[in-house]
Amino acid sequence: MNMLPGGCIPPQEVSVPRLSILDLSKEQLQHLLREWGEPAYRARQVWHGLYCQLAGTPEALSNLPKALCTRLSQEILWDPLTPLTTLRSRDGQTYKLLFALPDGAQVEAVLMHYARRHTVCLSTQAGCAIGCPFCATGQGGFQRNLSAGEIVAQVLYFARQVAAQGERITNVVLMGMGEPLANYEATWTAIRRLNDPEGFNLGARAMTLSTVGLVPGIRRMAHESEQVNLAVSLHAANDALRDQLVPINRRFPLAQVLEACRYYVAQTHRRVSFEYALMADVNDRDEDAHQLAELLGGLLAHVNLIPLNPTPGSLFRPSPRARVQAFQRILQQHHISCTVRLRRGLDIQAGCGQLRLHQREGKKPLLSGND
Ligand code: SF4
Repeated sequence: MNMLPGGCIPPQEVSVPRLSILDLSKEQLQHLLREWGEPAYRARQVWHGLYCQLAGTPEALSNLPKALCTRLSQEILWDPLTPLTTLRSRDGQTYKLLFALPDGAQVEAVLMHYARRHTVCLSTQAGCAIGCPFCATGQGGFQRNLSAGEIVAQVLYFARQVAAQGERITNVVLMGMGEPLANYEATWTAIRRLNDPEGFNLGARAMTLSTVGLVPGIRRMAHESEQVNLAVSLHAANDALRDQLVPINRRFPLAQVLEACRYYVAQTHRRVSFEYALMADVNDRDEDAHQLAELLGGLLAHVNLIPLNPTPGSLFRPSPRARVQAFQRILQQHHISCTVRLRRGLDIQAGCGQLRLHQREGKKPLLSGND
């Protein structure tokens, strides 16, 4: 090490992470601006600017004094996301973004346009520790939990885009990278932030949290006051297969997951959705459908059958259409409510984690917004 005379270590440039404004609660923002000598109403103006006007920078808020805008720009991180790659599906209805976070971690989020809805699928972790073998995120490993502000920022990014067309984000699904219940505090802070009537004001019922079945988290969710929809990714109807497809099953086997779901329904009187990714010759036999029906019998439940969104190079393939239909028929014969979900953005690696994996391997995206 290079020492100065007298044994001192020379000063080095240390990069101190800037405070992210989206990680502040309303009270914390009030406190900060009060410390800066601003009047009390400034916090309301900034909050409104962030979550209602969807300002992408402090300068976009014309009602703030210039000196405050400058200070906010210099001292506070306004948006933690840097878009790296934008992909647009050929039909123009699905957009996928790969973002860099301030520490270099990468996350994906997807915007899906439907007839009367604009849905954001967001990530709650950079990577995922669950390690499902059919999922690109699971294969890419776990980096870290996202903060509440980093989760909310994904919605705000797309909200600014649809606002330019005079529209609003109507739905949010927490089904991107990561397991939301493994990052419980940040995830629920983000949900409450999005739900805030003085802010983004998205109804709790317009949000769906998807989990692979972290039992303590499901039980805890049953007592949250926000009526967010619960989706549980099953992908197999017996423990032997689920141990392989969703490795957390070894810790929380199906019986415990279903018991937690029954508890959730009893507490909330709300239906649980079960996601089942249909994989050819893996979990799509008639026998699997009968087992699934037996497992869910008597529960207030709905099944979403999703032909797998294939990861390039993976051995797992989507079930053919005829098999999907046969599987659905069996569930219907057992009076299990179910739908086959549309797969979106197949041409843009919209499956969870595929874009990040692609980027890491140094490959060019298949299709980009600039094409
Ligand atoms: S499917 Fe979900 S839980 Fe499984 S590895 Fe992928 S992101 Fe994680």
